[in-house]
Amino acid sequence: MPRIRPIRTEAIVLRQRPLGDADRICVLFSPTRGRIEAVAKGVRKPLSKMSGHVEPLSRGQFGLAQGRSLFVITDAQTLDPWSPLHDDVERMTEALAMAELVDRSTDAEVSSGPLYQLLRRSLESLASTQSPAAVRRWFTLRFLDQQGYQPELDACVRCRTEVGPEGNGYSAVDGGVVCPNCHGAGHGQRLTSPVFRLLRYMRRSSAQSTAQVRVDAQASAELERHLSMSLEQALDARLRSSSFAEDLARAETIGRSAVQSAAESEREEQRRAAI
Ligand SMILES: [Zn+2]
Repeated sequence: MPRIRPIRTEAIVLRQRPLGDADRICVLFSPTRGRIEAVAKGVRKPLSKMSGHVEPLSRGQFGLAQGRSLFVITDAQTLDPWSPLHDDVERMTEALAMAELVDRSTDAEVSSGPLYQLLRRSLESLASTQSPAAVRRWFTLRFLDQQGYQPELDACVRCRTEVGPEGNGYSAVDGGVVCPNCHGAGHGQRLTSPVFRLLRYMRRSSAQSTAQVRVDAQASAELERHLSMSLEQALDARLRSSSFAEDLARAETIGRSAVQSAAESEREEQRRAAI
């Protein structure tokens, strides 16, 4: 087998899961290589030097070597621990939601610069904000945009009439705002004027500015509903695309071989102990 050169990459740790007795599999997100599953060896042992550098929701510099089925992390150096994300349940919850979305929507070995920068900026904003949900919603809107599902907010998605702020509907299936006429004819869910204005504001503003806007509970719930339905549309479309189905199959194969190699090394250890 040709020897693959070790690689170095900056990455955000999306999540990790235990492997065997002492290791973890880390899901890394790299700007140049997309999603990478890599084994952090020995990090569950008490004196592991690496364990503090592979924490989920941190950004670091990683050295990776190609193992039998997965990459192996040879060294890790934290660049941003984003401690405030880990000290606050609400921030942590929103950060995990963003990481999960990236995890579900990126492929291995695919350059993902813009999405990486979006996640990085959003986690940075989340670490310093008093409105974690607002930052996550801002992230969701940008994410939709990057995936090619930016909600249309200027013209009716059914008849193309330019819309004002009043009397509109919102249709995630059709991809955005529905004019009062079409909404009156039964299309879309109600889109109130404050939420319509807020969506337009979010589209052109930073996460920090968006987080400063005071939104009441009702508008907040409505915005959440529209965005999550649009997100569902985008993720469903991805799920339907055959390349994603192939990725899933591949991920399952990789997962299985990781489990197999973990079982093999366990047997090897037992064998050695027996000698
Ligand atoms: Zn219309």
